[in-house]
Amino acid sequence: MPDHLGEFDLIARYFRRPASSALLGIGDDCALLQAQAGMQWAVSTDMLVEGRHFFAGADPRQLGHKALAVNLSDLAAMGAQPHAFLLALALPAADPRWLGEFSAGLLGLADAHGIELVGGDTTRGPLNLCLTVLGLVPDGLALRRDAARAGDELWVSGTPGDARLALGHLRGEWQLAPPALEQVLPRLHAPQPRVALGLALRGIAHAAIDVSDGLLGDLGHVLQASGAGARVDADAVPAGAALAQQPLQRRRSCQLAGGDDYELLFTAPAQRRDAVLRAAAQAGVGVARIGDIVAGRGVLLHDAAGRELAPDYASFDHFADR
Ligand code: ADP
Ligand code: MG
Repeated sequence: MPDHLGEFDLIARYFRRPASSALLGIGDDCALLQAQAGMQWAVSTDMLVEGRHFFAGADPRQLGHKALAVNLSDLAAMGAQPHAFLLALALPAADPRWLGEFSAGLLGLADAHGIELVGGDTTRGPLNLCLTVLGLVPDGLALRRDAARAGDELWVSGTPGDARLALGHLRGEWQLAPPALEQVLPRLHAPQPRVALGLALRGIAHAAIDVSDGLLGDLGHVLQASGAGARVDADAVPAGAALAQQPLQRRRSCQLAGGDDYELLFTAPAQRRDAVLRAAAQAGVGVARIGDIVAGRGVLLHDAAGRELAPDYASFDHFADR
């Protein structure tokens, strides 16, 4: 990236720090990580493109945080311990202010989770962030999408739908009052990946997935992989304070079809209910039981009174009362 601030200066100034757990970090042709007996690598990549995954001109500190958060969320959903990550970065210009803020948001969250930046690539181009994360999970303990079984209970963490509620305000689909907006904006811009919960659920949960594209859509991935169906009580999905005040239809749409929450959706045998609650308490995250995995295919959606609801909440952009 030829510029007044060259590629190597840029990496040294904003991204390179003394290697901690890596045998060899940034600076050589490859990083070197110690292989560990009895452990498996969980590896994932997520790309964030300006104009598609975030607004042009987005706050660089929040962007740094979110770029890593969405990747950590994938490790959380596998029950993997974050270990190292790589950053491939296309930048329109080497703006020191932007880079300083971005790096602070990114490395701040990295430090909070003990994950080390060990390499990457830097080039000039339209703003594009591609992170690859590596996590560790003991042999056989990863929380896979294909592990849900009929008789499992279905759980979700946190209050899904908050991020979509914030996005709707920013898009002008509806207007939120300042207190509600202050509650949900951080849920969109600075999601907290549920890493501690994923770790605590090892050996307890069967299947898990993080809710990035909407609860029902992501549930569909689990059901498809596991060859099972589900019954879901729409009224059992917890609503955050702001969402609880919204009209019912909007609330349900946000909770069931809104993306970007990065909560964990997981299944566990009914006999492990107490263990799930202990794991959640240990991780400091609320969890709610929202349904059951059943034999067969598809999702039966119902309300608290047992009335069947039309399953048309599944698509990301279905908002009937816009
Ligand atoms: P190569 O020529 O092998 O692609 P580079 O010159 O691109 O190597 O990168 C030099 C070193 O800097 C490598 O160790 C690479 O992993 C690291 N690196 C490049 N860009 C980044 C970045 N954005 N974040 C972290 N490390 C980076
Ligand atoms: Mg390179």
